[in-house]
This record gives sequence, C-alpha cells and structure tokens, in this order.
Amino acid sequence: MPIYEAPIADFRFLLQEVFDYDEQVAGLPGLEDATMDVVLAVLEGADEFVREVLLPINLPGDALGCTHEPDGVHTPRGYKEAYATYRNGGWPALAGDPAYGGQGLPTSLAIFVRELIASGSMSFGMYGGLSQGAYRALAAHGSDALKLAFLPHLVDGSWTGTMCMTEPECGSDLSHLRTRAVPASDGSYRITGTKIFISGGDHDLAENIVHLVLARLPDAPAGTRGISLFIVPKCLPPVQHGPLPGRSDNGVTCVSIEQKMGIRASATATLAFDDAQGWLIGEAHGGLRAMFTMMNSSRVGVAVQSVGVAEISYQNALHYAQERRQGRAPGAAHSANGERSDAIVLHPDVRKNLLTMKALVEGARALYVESAMALDIRARHPDASARSDADGMLALMTPVLKSFISDCAVTVTNLGITIFGGHGYVHESGVEHWLRDARIVPLYEGTNAIQALDLVNRKLTLDGGKAVQAWLAEVAQRIQRHRDAPEIGALCAPLELALGQLRATTALMQDRVATDAVEAAAAASDYLRMFGLVALGAAWLRMAACAQAARGSEGGAFYRGKVKTARFYMQHLLPETERLQHSIRAGARTIMDVEPQEL
Ligand SMILES: Cc1cc2nc3c(=O)[nH]c(=O)nc-3n(C[C@H](O)[C@H](O)[C@H](O)COP(=O)(O)OP(=O)(O)OC[C@H]3O[C@@H](n4cnc5c(N)ncnc54)[C@H](O)[C@@H]3O)c2cc1C
Repeated sequence: MPIYEAPIADFRFLLQEVFDYDEQVAGLPGLEDATMDVVLAVLEGADEFVREVLLPINLPGDALGCTHEPDGVHTPRGYKEAYATYRNGGWPALAGDPAYGGQGLPTSLAIFVRELIASGSMSFGMYGGLSQGAYRALAAHGSDALKLAFLPHLVDGSWTGTMCMTEPECGSDLSHLRTRAVPASDGSYRITGTKIFISGGDHDLAENIVHLVLARLPDAPAGTRGISLFIVPKCLPPVQHGPLPGRSDNGVTCVSIEQKMGIRASATATLAFDDAQGWLIGEAHGGLRAMFTMMNSSRVGVAVQSVGVAEISYQNALHYAQERRQGRAPGAAHSANGERSDAIVLHPDVRKNLLTMKALVEGARALYVESAMALDIRARHPDASARSDADGMLALMTPVLKSFISDCAVTVTNLGITIFGGHGYVHESGVEHWLRDARIVPLYEGTNAIQALDLVNRKLTLDGGKAVQAWLAEVAQRIQRHRDAPEIGALCAPLELALGQLRATTALMQDRVATDAVEAAAAASDYLRMFGLVALGAAWLRMAACAQAARGSEGGAFYRGKVKTARFYMQHLLPETERLQHSIRAGARTIMDVEPQEL
C-alpha cells in the first residue's frame, strides 16, 4: 500500500508563519474558537481517517470501479462503510452553519481537509466535495423554505449533492442547454431533459441525492441569459431512511455510468429527468449567477484535489528514491556504506525531478491556502473594503488556481511515474493511477482553456483592471521588501524579471481584449500559465522569507528545504515565463494561418 502522512507541518508553517491564520481567520466574527490548535487537531483527525479508512480502499476501488446494477449504482467494496465513518465523524458538517446542524468552523478548514481526503482517495472526495458546493449555492441563493428542507441533510451527510450542467450538445458552451423546466400549479417546477457526466449522479452511499440542475423556463431568452437553476431531489421528501429504492420516485433515472480512465470509484452518471419535481433557486433566468457560486467553490476544490493527489505522488516518489539503489551517482561519497550502487535520490536528474515535484506541490498549497482564507474573509470580515478586496482577489485567482494547479498535478503525478521507472508504469506499484486520476482535473469544472478565456476576457478587465493591478503591485512590494535581505534577496531578481514580463504582457492582453478577440484567445492559455508561474514565484518568495527567519530553530531541515526549493524554483522553473512571453508576442497569425484542412 502507498505510504502517506498528512503534511501537517506544512499546514502549520503556512497558517502560523506565512499567513497569520489566527489573526486573519480566527480573528473573524463567529470564528473565534477556530484557533490554530483546533485546526491542527482537525487535520490530525483527518489524517487518521485518510490512513485508516481511505487508503486501504483506494487502489482496490480503482480496480473494481463503480457498477450500474438493476437496483442502482454501486460504489466499490468498502466505500459505503467509509462514507458511514465519514458521516459519523461529522466531516460533512465541519463548515456548515450551526443553524442547520453544522459545526460553524471556517470554510478554509473544510477545504484543507479536502486536500487530505483527495490524497487518500480522489474518487471518495468527489461525493463530499460536490455536496459542499451544493450547500454553498443553496445557502447563498435559496429561499428560507428550501434551505430548511435541504441544508440539514447536506450538512449531516445523509444526502449528497451534484452539479448538473453538461448535456450531450452542451459542454463548454452552456448556451446550447436544452433541459426544460415547466412551472407547476403548486409553485414547484417539472424538469425534463438529459444530463451527462454527472459526478455522484447516482450511488449507494447516502439516503438521497439532490441535483442542482440548470434548465430553461418556457419564456426563457435564448443563450446563457435564459438559464435557471433548480434543486431536484432523487427521492422526494419526506426522507427515506435506509438504502435508496431501486426505482427513483421523482422521475430521475440513472441511464448509465461512464467507464473512465481514472477516478473510477466516483460514479459519473448519465441522468434522465422525466417530469421530475424541482424548485427554483434564486431568480428565474438568473441560474448561471447562482450556479457560479457552486462552480467557483468547485473550481477552488479542483485546485485542492490537485494538490492532494500530487502530494501523495510526491511522498511516494521521495520514499522510493531514498530506497531504490541503481548505478553510481556522480559526485556522491561511495565508500562508507559498502553498497555497490547508490540510492537514486543521489542522481542529479532524480533530485531535480523531486525538487520540481516539491516546488509545485508546496507552492500550489500556499496559493490555495491563501485563497481559502480569503473565502472566510469575504464572508465574515466586518470591514466592507476588506470583503471587497478578498472578493476581487478570489475572482482573479479562481481560474488561475483551477488551471495552473491542475496542470501542476498532471506534471507531478507524471514525474512520480518517472521516478519509479518501469515499476511506475505497472499497476502493482500503485503509482500510475495517480496520473490517471489527475488527468481529469484540467478537464472538468470548465476545461483549462475555458478558464484561460475567463481570466483574459473577464478578469483582466474586471472593475477597469483594478484587481490585477492591485495584485501586480502587491507582488512588486513583496520583492521590494526582501530585495536587500541576505540569501532571500537573491530570489528577488528572477522574480522581478518574470513580474516585469507579466506586467508588460498583461497590458498587451488587455489591449488585445479590447481590439482583437482572435489575438486574445490565441494567447489566453499561455498568459494564464505565465500568471500562475509568477504567482507561484511570489508564494515561494514569501515562504522562503518566513523560513529564513525561522532557520536555526527546531525543524532546521524543513526550513532549509523551503529556502533551497524557492531558489530552485526561481532558477529552473520560473524562467519559463520568457518562452511564454515570446509565444504570446508572436501572435495568432502563425496559428490561424493554418487552415483546418491543412492540419
Ligand atoms: C469524470 C467527469 C466528471 C464530470 N463531472 C461533471 C459534473 O459533475 N457536472 C457537470 O455538469 N459536468 C461534469 N463533467 C463535464 C465536464 O465539465 C465537461 O466535460 C467539460 O466542461 C468540457 O465539456 P466537453 O467535454 O463537452 O468538451 P467540449 O466543450 O466539446 O470541448 C472540447 C475541447 O475543445 C475546447 N474548447 C471548447 N470551446 C472552446 C473555446 N471557446 N475556446 C477554446 N477551446 C475550447 C475544450 O477546451 C476542449 O479541449 C464531468 C466530466 C468528466 C469527464
């Protein structure tokens, strides 16, 4: 079985020494009791759950996958029991509102727990993760009656949630959406249509499933302005305890489930809605706005999943590299141990791969932790301008987190295989499945290409470009602060160079958005990557400065590792910005000159 230990030391470092969690989050109204001690205790509990409950079922679950039987969808052996333990442990209730039975802990803490769960089983984490998203959308936009009817069940985990957007003709482009909603005389609606690729669309873990469904009302305008959001339970209330009945009693039928490359214990369902009863969430025709609450929550969730799967891949690669002996490493001291060959961690190429993994995993964690804390600040800070700043920062960073970090997960899990050599390619080592699992993260919740268009076309111009300018200025100030510091100062020059490239490219992209949509679209993915690389650099500078200040104290290797990884990142990975800037400047002509028939 793979090894795993929750990165609690890294969380402690980030929350206590880098981001001042006690002041920033536990200082918020209503979160006074959620101190660092509480956070660490919760993470330790989650670590135990992951190691004792999830890891043992993860690889067998990957081999077995979910099955679609006449009585519904079955998750692989052990998943039902694991979900019962998850429920009984109160995990779904962590950040829920106490008014609905929740524990009232920070949203950020629930997000940190999701990382650990994704390390244990990305598939398992999908069920709870989407429920959290459904909870947030309903809590933000639902009527009091709907909240009372549904939220307590999502909070206690007896029901799970889904997000039903995708249809056969409607993937990235929601304007093609066909599912219909017809008003009924009792104030509810009747929903008819087919949704595909619905994560957790049917399963045997919970007593009911609530689907958040995008559909069109009869008088809906064409396009995305005519989409409304409905909540449609699989089984109608009152609650049925015990296993779900084989036939749905609300006209929601699972037609089939997908056979997939990865996350095979997560049921991905095709659902037929046949005159199913549902209720409107938010305004008629305002469904996208309401769904965006769920999508944005899920997009941050994708970044967190990405770090989770990358973390366990890194831990196992590191462990293997320290144990596996092959060849003589140049420059290594050989005589002492009398072994005929060296541990592969001593080979420069292996070390470089491990450092790449560490730089991406820990840097990405720093990025999402800061954004997760901003979610609490946006929701609870007494000062409106602090809430507004957090909102601007989240709007800007969400597509970057989703895309850049999900790409990092694919890179890291791929390098994980590289480090295991041929043993990484075979099922037995349990290493290749992390790459198969990770391959979905750049694709769902809006592909990374769509996120890049969102960043460029919407976020760069949001509020006259205020958020991006504020962010660029903050990174510049951080560089300024550390420029003359011993050791850390040396990290500033490469970051300053990359920031200058990003600043110039941002202005170029803003101009392209205003003047030439083809040029903007052709460069969007490169621009998002450039942004992510600089954001990661800024995070590493901040971490390195804190680690340098703590060097010499207990945990010396931990802190030295941080500073040295920051140095590696700045010298070896960050300079990719130069190539990206070059590609962006080259423009769209060399791309669009090639006709489809010439490809
Ligand atoms: C395992 C799994 C779980 C999923 N879970 C859910 C779920 O719970 N709920 C749900 O509603 N959906 C879910 N999905 C669907 C997922 O969100 C979509 O697959 C995704 O949004 C892409 O849509 P598509 O597959 O139709 O690809 P398409 O939209 O057909 O895109 C195909 C390719 O073209 C590119 N492309 C399309 N339009 C543009 C453009 N304007 N500019 C640049 N490039 C473009 C895309 O980036 C992609 O590379 C899931 C999918 C999978 C595989």
